[in-house]
Amino acid sequence: MVECAYCEKPLTCDACGVDYVPPTPEHYEALSRPEVPLYCPNCEAVLVCHWCKTPYDGEPEGQEDAAGG
Ligand SMILES: [Zn+2]
Ligand SMILES: [Zn+2]
Repeated sequence: MVECAYCEKPLTCDACGVDYVPPTPEHYEALSRPEVPLYCPNCEAVLVCHWCKTPYDGEPEGQEDAAGG
């Protein structure tokens, strides 16, 4: 089991609800690198923490852009 890099709770995929298990040591290290996108090995969606809803999509947080329509 790994912890979410943001809220330190057990990292669970918000899309399918399974605990995220890094398939390789590189994936494990990527948890602390916000510029590296991670995908759930179970449902293949962008990994989103079930608890804090933070997406591991390779986009550093704090980037708010008002998309007008
Ligand atoms: Zn979290
Ligand atoms: Zn999933």
